[in-house]
Amino acid sequence: MLTIDNLHARVGQQSILKGLNLQIKPGEVHAIMGPNGAGKSTLSYLLSGRDGYEVEGGSVQFMDDDLLEMEVEDRARHGLFLAFQYPVEIPGVSNMEFMKESVNAIREQRGEEPLSAAEFLKKAKEACKQVQLPLDFLKRGVNEGFSGGEKKRNEIMQMILLEPKLCILDESDSGLDIDALQVVASGVNSQRNSERSFLVITHYQRLLDYIKPDFVHILANGKIVKSGDASLALKVEKEGYAFLGIEATEEA
Ligand code: ADP
Ligand code: MG
Ligand code: MG
Repeated sequence: MLTIDNLHARVGQQSILKGLNLQIKPGEVHAIMGPNGAGKSTLSYLLSGRDGYEVEGGSVQFMDDDLLEMEVEDRARHGLFLAFQYPVEIPGVSNMEFMKESVNAIREQRGEEPLSAAEFLKKAKEACKQVQLPLDFLKRGVNEGFSGGEKKRNEIMQMILLEPKLCILDESDSGLDIDALQVVASGVNSQRNSERSFLVITHYQRLLDYIKPDFVHILANGKIVKSGDASLALKVEKEGYAFLGIEATEEA
């Protein structure tokens, strides 16, 4: 599904990722934890193709393609979902119109017929209900005036509707309340299957109480320094990062 090999990347003049390796197979859920400033968000922005994040070496293979060579829109069309890829407000374009176009662009890529307005509406209503957003969010401008928690629910609704192959979530928002955390977790859990993979980047062990990862990786100083199963996250919660020889920071 995803193979990251010896990835080196910088932001501006500063090298942040320094030889990162990660392999995700279909159906697996991987979590990345690590001290503040380790490069977790840099990794997710880089995979999303954000401007200013430059690859210095290494490769990222997404299914049969070189991800780093793919246009940003193509990444989504080929089944990569990044939870924060549509954070912008688009006043005047309804959430519903926006999502219908996005879903149908992906269906076209897969060689599937576009959904009719009625078919899409039915799916959208179900997804809305699942993330506990009132139905009128479908009619509102994309992210227009949404609160942090509503944006998060909307993001998970997008994930459900887009039926991606690989979902990358960077849960770095310290403002997330427990309800929003549970929406994220139940959205992920409901979409888990033998073909779909997840990369959950989190600053909080707490999220992993609800999403049971198959693998946990610790990212420090720009590379994965330790990998294990879910028990690694519990060890970090109990002991911090000291046992890895990493200095503790204010944020886990
Ligand atoms: P994490 O998400 O693990 O907390 P980040 O990926 O956000 O870490 O940041 C990794 C490092 O990159 C930090 O030292 C941060 O200061 C630095 N960094 C992030 N963005 C920029 C930028 N635009 N210019 C220079 N340095 C940056
Ligand atoms: Mg941070
Ligand atoms: Mg971060």
